Amino acid sequence: MSTLATELPLRRAEIGQGTVIARALPHREKRMIGAWCFLDRAGPVQFAQGQGLNIGPHPHIGLQTFTWMIAGTLMHTDSLGSKQLIQPKQVNLMTAGHGISHTEVAPQTETELHTAQLWIALPDAKRDMPAKFQHYPQLPVIQQQQLECTVLVGEFLEQLSPVEVYSPLVAVDFCTAQSASQATRFKLTPNFEYGLLLLTGDVQINGQTLSNDNMMVFSTGTTEIVIELAAKSRVLLIGGEPFESPILLWWNYVGRTEQEVKTAHQQWLAHDRRFGEIHDYDGQRLQAPTFPTHMRASR
Ligand code: MN
Repeated sequence: MSTLATELPLRRAEIGQGTVIARALPHREKRMIGAWCFLDRAGPVQFAQGQGLNIGPHPHIGLQTFTWMIAGTLMHTDSLGSKQLIQPKQVNLMTAGHGISHTEVAPQTETELHTAQLWIALPDAKRDMPAKFQHYPQLPVIQQQQLECTVLVGEFLEQLSPVEVYSPLVAVDFCTAQSASQATRFKLTPNFEYGLLLLTGDVQINGQTLSNDNMMVFSTGTTEIVIELAAKSRVLLIGGEPFESPILLWWNYVGRTEQEVKTAHQQWLAHDRRFGEIHDYDGQRLQAPTFPTHMRASR
């Protein structure tokens, strides 16, 4: 049993149209878990038709956006010409690399949303790569009695996710249906650090209740974990090797230096072709915050 767990409070943030999310990463005391540098839990929430999420065109560099859909649907559109509806139990992965722009819009008939949205910082060797978009309609699932384990990224219980990432990472969704699970022990990778986020219901980690308001973090050196889920519950485990370098994360960009992020942002504001165009979006670009006077890379 590990004694290396800490709990960090989630922050509430608004991501447009009044959609309030719980943000686990970045946290002041924990910027990243492996290459995972951003983690939002959105929902579960219900809304009237036409009132769903509508995130206008915005840019990214130096990262991959990773969407795990639990309930509801979203339409992804990007400047490469990709147009992909994501449905429950599917993953969308957008590798921004040198630059891309995209929108995320709930279909007109949609009335619910429950999703985990993550960003993965790209390592130096890959962060300037050409952008690409990948959709994964099916992920490996392992049944452990009442516990359903879906391998979203990396390897878990000898099952390998097809999701293409560029750092040693893992992500696993654990859920139950009508019955609670038994306390189940899982081996962890000792050179990974880990985070656990409750997505819905109730969960005990190593016999300790994980609050809906906190993320639980395990430092490297943790060798195993015991997970016990109540009925109709779901928890997300992410992990990875501590990232190779400090990163500079501002708005939708991940870089290493202030100048690099500033240049990207000026190019976005100038409609530079680095970020392409989205032709069929009916509305405004996402409003960017004011560029800060000073930024510092951290990990
Ligand atoms: Mn985005």
